Amino acid sequence: MEIWRRLGLSQVMRNTGLPEDYPNDVAYRTRFVGDEISRIPIPCRRDRYTATGGPDTWWPTPEPPHRINQLFLEPVLFEFAAATPGITILNRTMVDTFHQDSEAVVCEGVNLDSNERLSIRSDFLIGCDGGKSAVRKWIGAKLSGTDVVGRVQSTFFRAPSLIHEQKHPPAWATFSINASRSGNVYAIDGKETWLLHNYLRPDEPEFESVDRDWAIREILGVGPDFKYEVISKEDWVGRRLVADKFREGRAFICGDAAHLWFPMAGYGMNAGIADAMNLSWQLSAYLSGWGGERLLDGYQIERQPITLQVSNFAMNHAYALQAKREKVPENIEYDTPEGAASRERIGRELYDLNVKQYCCGGLNFGYFYDQSPMIAYDGTTHPTYSMDQFTSSTVPGCRTPHVWLENKQSLYDHLGHWFTLLRLDPSLDTSEFELAAQQRGLPLKVLDICPHLAGDAYVHKLVLSRPDQHVAWRGNSIPQNILNLVDQIRGCFQ
Ligand SMILES: Cc1cc2nc3c(=O)[nH]c(=O)nc-3n(C[C@H](O)[C@H](O)[C@H](O)COP(=O)(O)OP(=O)(O)OC[C@H]3O[C@@H](n4cnc5c(N)ncnc54)[C@H](O)[C@@H]3O)c2cc1C
Repeated sequence: MEIWRRLGLSQVMRNTGLPEDYPNDVAYRTRFVGDEISRIPIPCRRDRYTATGGPDTWWPTPEPPHRINQLFLEPVLFEFAAATPGITILNRTMVDTFHQDSEAVVCEGVNLDSNERLSIRSDFLIGCDGGKSAVRKWIGAKLSGTDVVGRVQSTFFRAPSLIHEQKHPPAWATFSINASRSGNVYAIDGKETWLLHNYLRPDEPEFESVDRDWAIREILGVGPDFKYEVISKEDWVGRRLVADKFREGRAFICGDAAHLWFPMAGYGMNAGIADAMNLSWQLSAYLSGWGGERLLDGYQIERQPITLQVSNFAMNHAYALQAKREKVPENIEYDTPEGAASRERIGRELYDLNVKQYCCGGLNFGYFYDQSPMIAYDGTTHPTYSMDQFTSSTVPGCRTPHVWLENKQSLYDHLGHWFTLLRLDPSLDTSEFELAAQQRGLPLKVLDICPHLAGDAYVHKLVLSRPDQHVAWRGNSIPQNILNLVDQIRGCFQ
């Protein structure tokens, strides 16, 4: 959402998805229509900016999370791209051949309706072509990791009556946990469309190993009279695979083309968006002439370790959930003191485990780039983070900590388009820095920040924020050889 804000898209994104008052909660129940055993409270979009006291309302950000299905997100992005000067969209066009030399990339493809062939020559190619990426194969990248973490029989269906059959208030995600068949139900439009995940067990190797209709009725807890209409079958395999390289010459891979993992923590697409943000500023700087050759190496050096880390978080979480599903006692649905105790215990355990993935502040804000040649480290250790916890920090490589400026204005809205030198001591002369940036053509904005507004994370007088809102350097004075620093951050060095 911070990246959408930077593009001016966060409001339009926020205005779509579930109805504005539909709870974004995650509920744990014995069945969809059964007893509720715990609930992770996540505000509806109407209350997102004002809600307090929840497990994800403390995040220091101007853009709290927004739960939005890709069915709603993609049209917004598409419209934005279509209206952006310089972008041409070719729908129904498949790229089937690619070659490159030191000067350019040439992609050849076919219009799937007219069979007309076309050839496109460009400076660079970014393969955002998903898990089966052809670009990944063309550049010779190999995926490695765990091929199958789990299989999921997934059904997208319409059932207008379902929302009214619940005994409890609606939630965005509702987990059914029982000894017969556990699964998840996600509200898609908040009215009548739903996505149901039936997690197949290790001894159910095929998607149709389990009768789909039976599993849907078990997870929902409804009888044979319940009516629903299957819109599509969306079965999927959860994997943990990361490519061994993200670039070859002038071709890059980004998003699912470069990494695939079990959809935990809502982090699949988020990671792809962060990849794109990282790569786009570096490529743009290079093409503008002020970014050096080494900037092109930065994308893989910075993003690959993060995606590896997230892939492990997601896989471990998927295994932990699988273990929980395998150990549900029969009595969880009994109307007995033992049954009540099981519901209480399992409800608490599921809350504790899953609040980390659904309120994953660490994955969003805690990660840092610690091996980048384009970042000037100062020897300070980066603060550790987990899936849900993190500490805002200006240690170079971390996300530029957010602060509210005068009149409740967001720091992020005042950052320059490219690099921003945050000055916390107005008496400090930054003209040498500005001159060095000017000499190298590096666009730099100097922004004064009132020290008493800056918060604990800002412990230096100067902090340099990159276009992707990560810290490139910090210090209390202008470094002696300032041109060296400017050359380092713009990727111009041997
Ligand atoms: C069940 C499930 C639930 C998920 N839930 C979440 C979630 O809650 N939150 C989240 O953040 N992520 C989630 N994800 C992950 C998320 O869907 C993916 O990470 C994301 O869609 C990847 O985006 P992408 O653009 O990299 O690839 P894709 O979305 O796969 O897009 C690739 C595009 O490239 C096109 N293409 C492919 N080959 C060619 C070619 N040769 N020529 C031209 N075009 C081509 C395809 O047609 C497609 O349009 C989930 C995934 C699954 C399976």
